[in-house]
Formats: sequence, C-alpha cells, structure tokens
Amino acid sequence: MKPRLMAPGPTPVAPETLLAMARPAFHHRTPAFRELFHEVNEGLKYLFQTENPVLTFAGSGTGAMEAAVSNLLCQGDQALVVRGGKFGERWGEICEAYGVNAACLDVEWGEAVNPDDIANALDENRDIKSVHTTLCETSTATLTDIKAVGAVVKDTGAVLVVDAISALGGDELRADDWHVDCVIAGSQKGLMLPPGLSFISVSSKAREAVERSTLPKYYFSIERALDSYEKDDTPWTPAVSLVVGLGETLRTIREEGIDNVFARHARLAMATRAGMTGMGLDIFSKSPANIVTAVKMPQGVDGLKVLSSLRDDLELTPAGGQAKLKGKIIRIAHLGYVDDFDVVTAVSALELALLRNGAAVKPGSGVAAVQEAFAGV
Ligand SMILES: *Cc1c(COP(=O)(O)O)cnc(C)c1O
Repeated sequence: MKPRLMAPGPTPVAPETLLAMARPAFHHRTPAFRELFHEVNEGLKYLFQTENPVLTFAGSGTGAMEAAVSNLLCQGDQALVVRGGKFGERWGEICEAYGVNAACLDVEWGEAVNPDDIANALDENRDIKSVHTTLCETSTATLTDIKAVGAVVKDTGAVLVVDAISALGGDELRADDWHVDCVIAGSQKGLMLPPGLSFISVSSKAREAVERSTLPKYYFSIERALDSYEKDDTPWTPAVSLVVGLGETLRTIREEGIDNVFARHARLAMATRAGMTGMGLDIFSKSPANIVTAVKMPQGVDGLKVLSSLRDDLELTPAGGQAKLKGKIIRIAHLGYVDDFDVVTAVSALELALLRNGAAVKPGSGVAAVQEAFAGV
C-alpha cells in the first residue's frame, strides 16, 4: 500500500523539499548559510504577515511556546490562558512550570472563546501581563477569531501570544494587522517539513516584555536569538538541513501567494466537511478550522477501531481524539502539501473504514458530496 499522511502534524513533505534536504550538509558560520538564512527570514515575515523579526529555534513547536513564557514574563506574573483543549492546557502547564500565575478561561471543547470574555478578564485584572491562546486548537479542530482577540488586547498592557503551530500556512493569520505580539509555529504542520524547527515572531511590545523578563532561560533566549538575527545568524548550531528545506517550502508559499494559500485551505475544508455530512456524520467543532476537520463517530462505532482500520489496513494516517475525545472523533487534516484528490481519498478511506466497523454508511455518499462540492453543484 501507499502510505498517506493526513494528520494535523506531521504533514506530507513535497519531493522537491526532500531532495533539497538530502544535499550534503554545509557549515553554518559561512556566507552561504547567512545568505540562505536571510532569504528564509524574509520568507517567514511574508508567511507570518509581519515586519517584525521571526526567530527560528531548533526544537519542536512546544520549544517556542516555552520560550514565549520564559522570555516575556517574571516569576509571579499574572497571565491569561484560554483553555479549550489539549493545547490550551499546555499553555497553562508551561506557565505553572515557570511560576507564572495563569488564570484559565475555560471554553467548552469544540467551541471558540468569546473575545468579550477576554476583554472582561483583562478589565477585571489590570495586572495581566500576557494572553495565551491558539489559532487552531488542534485537539478539537476549532478556530479562534484571533483578529477579534487582537482588537481586544492591543490597547492593554498585555502581550498577545498565539500558538499557531498547526494552522499557520493554512488558516488566515495576519500578525501585524491583527496586533499579535508573538505568533508561534512549528515546521511539521503548515510549513510542510519534518519536525524539528519552531518559530516565534517578536513585536516591539513583546521586545519590551523580553527586556523586563527575569525568568531563567539559556538555549531558548529570545534576546540572544535577536542579536544573532540582526546578522542573519543563530546563537547555536542551526538545524541546517531543515533550514534548507524551509527555503524550498517558503518559496512555494510565496509563489502560490498567501491569499491563495488561505483560499485553497478554505476550499479543501469546505469539501471535507461536505463529504463528512454527505455520509451522515456530524462535524465536532462549532467553529471549524480550515486545516483539520474533526468528525464525530456514529453511535455504537468505536473510533479507535476506525482509526486502526485507516492506519493499519488502509495505510492512511489521520489522528484520533485526545483525552476525553479518545475513540469519539477522527481528525483528518487537509494542511500543507495537499490537494483536492487527497480529500477525495481521505473521505473514501473513511467510508471504507466505517463500513468495515459496522457503521450504516452508504458507499460513495461521502465521495459524491466531495465531488459535488468541488464541482460547485
Ligand atoms: C502540534 C501542536 C503543538 C505541539 O507542537 P510540537 O511540535 O509537538 O511540540 C502545539 N500546539 C498546537 C496547536 C499544535 O497543533
């Protein structure tokens, strides 16, 4: 069988990128690396839609989340964490690990935070130094209205930190226009690379917070990374091969154009949702993202068995549910190096896996709905 990766990270890597990364490694303290890194840094600004520096760390996405907390805050500072799934919870856990007092704004899993609730929390507590939220809460496939959140946070003393690890390069995000101080991303999702790089943009408001911060940090020091960044350099050995791959993927994003990238993901998401409802399934999220769709398993069907049919028998790897959603949902990503026919294949595979696990699905019903959605009929 042909293996197919349709999880919300890691995502498929294009053959051109794989070939580029297979070239012999080269030394990083050279003009050749600095030239590449300069180009990459310009490409990252375009992707993040920012004029601010975007720092690249060797480490998975969580590394940059940790860097945000350890570089922006001081021990005992107050932070506001939006918690509507596994990744919102992670913000709370990192704050706790660093002795930051995180007030958690709990949101029903599958629902997006109401920006007014953030406004009220900031109004009630003027000491809040940072707001931590997520563009797509990947565990529930739920999109947050970051534009509205940015409008609420911008005139307060707090910095807005957005975990966009899954959704950057898929769902719309405009760091500067939407007043996001730190946008966080990872390589293995919308950037269409293997895991191993994480990114954080740093606004001037965030830079002031960095200067005040007294929490301990060393490897993930934003200050050191910014100093090197000015010289198209990194403080420590960069993950050179991944940066070479990043150069390739950023070039393809620029060629497609960021608005076309957003539109393609919107189209793939629309067709995926049509396919799911076409076979009689319900979409889990009330605010569905464009990079991943979470679908509820029908009554009496074990989602873990469906997941294993897909992965082990059909060689298509989606994601299942996490924590309390284990066995209850399947999450199919349509993110990055993905086109219309990947969606057709994924919906077709899900139909088969459901049929093999006793669900009453009419063969072809989901696929027909996808085709109709793409054909616009
Ligand atoms: C994948 C993901 C993470 C974790 O990133 P790692 O690269 O595994 O450290 C964090 N937040 C969100 C929203 C994610 O989708």
